[in-house]
Amino acid sequence: TAESIPPELAARLVELRDQGLESRNSFELVRSLTTEVGPRFAGTPGDRAAVAWAVRTMNEIGLRNVRTEPVQVPRWVRGHESGEILAPYPQPMFLTALGGSVGTPEGGLEGEVVMVGSLEELAERAGEEIEGKIVFINQRMVRHQDGSSYGQTGLVRRSGPARAAAKGAVGVVIRSLGTGTHRFAHTGATRYEEEIPEIPAAALAIPDADLLEMQVATGKPVRFRLELGAQRFDDVESATVIGEIPGRETPEEIVLLGAHLDSWDKGTGAIDDGSGVAITLEVARMILALPEPPRRTVRVVLFANEEFGLSGARAYPQGRESEIEQHVLAMEADLGPGRVWRYRARTDEASVEDAKQLIRYLAPMGVTWSDNTAGGGPDLIPLRYMGVPMVDLRPDATYYFDYHHTDDDTLDKVDPADLAQNVASYAVVAYWAAEREGTLGRPPVEEPPEWMRSGR
Ligand code: ZN
Ligand code: ZN
Repeated sequence: TAESIPPELAARLVELRDQGLESRNSFELVRSLTTEVGPRFAGTPGDRAAVAWAVRTMNEIGLRNVRTEPVQVPRWVRGHESGEILAPYPQPMFLTALGGSVGTPEGGLEGEVVMVGSLEELAERAGEEIEGKIVFINQRMVRHQDGSSYGQTGLVRRSGPARAAAKGAVGVVIRSLGTGTHRFAHTGATRYEEEIPEIPAAALAIPDADLLEMQVATGKPVRFRLELGAQRFDDVESATVIGEIPGRETPEEIVLLGAHLDSWDKGTGAIDDGSGVAITLEVARMILALPEPPRRTVRVVLFANEEFGLSGARAYPQGRESEIEQHVLAMEADLGPGRVWRYRARTDEASVEDAKQLIRYLAPMGVTWSDNTAGGGPDLIPLRYMGVPMVDLRPDATYYFDYHHTDDDTLDKVDPADLAQNVASYAVVAYWAAEREGTLGRPPVEEPPEWMRSGR
């Protein structure tokens, strides 16, 4: 049977929860980051300003051992971008380059459009149907509370351009991975493959994808012009920013609270991932305000460049292999500021009941226990393959993908009370993990995927 939570710890959890729900400091932190820094895409002056902001803020909060860990990040500049349907019915298109895309030749790229509904359909098309064309990948994302459609359609953006290029396409446009109906496009990283031509790739705003689809449906040949001024430069230096609350008894044991400091170049990164940055910092501030620090160390890690290649996530475990074995729990907030509704763990079978008992303190906030399949967030992927126990506190992502990776990721999309409910939820789990008698058992380690081993 699971250990029961001793009364003193239980009282502290309730205290932290109620205090978290009341506090509006987390909203103030997002306001500060989005106002004083704004867009902070990897390698830009905004990125450097964000690192300085994080160091300053961690020091102001009172975190200890505040430091930056240098991380090399790729440098890519979007430049001018435009597109239009030339025939059969000329119309301008709202679009944006996918992160990492090559630019078009001067004056743009013109071609006939061939539409496919999915990567599977692209794979089935004969090479001669694709050769020399601009491929339009028109796969819809579906609105869902758990945001799972992003996981299912993500491959369209990441691999669609390379797969179309392998069949001879000269350019790619995709339906934005998004659920909104506004006329702005959703960016996000794409990846080219070695020995396959690198072709220009852009995302169409949702209404523009509808429009292109309807022109294709006329059965008349559709011609498209795409102009992207994107350019790549040499890698530059950025940094992951770390601050700690040293544990009072076993400081070598670490509870990691993560978020990513960078954003895309378009919005001010309020929901992705200013909210996560604010949640982790505010939880740390609340724990620091307690009469004494918890038994174990709480470490806040604001990862460099999640968006454009997981640079900080890849760098973090390097040179700290033995320390990773002392990570007793890791969590990352990176699915927006919606209210937490689902709690799940990733631990060994024997500890599942242990993890589950915490639901008593989360349930009054509308959180339900899910299962033992926590993923941990993008920056925790390497740690997942090193056997670090994890918890996911999944926010309601119903509206997250309306604004995700667009110009419209701004502060007004953050509800202060919903953000505070995240703080309360994270505070309960983080403090429990840092203070309780035992630790969760380490989950079985799976073989890491190819992209992690190859370092690409
Ligand atoms: Zn993110
Ligand atoms: Zn993102």
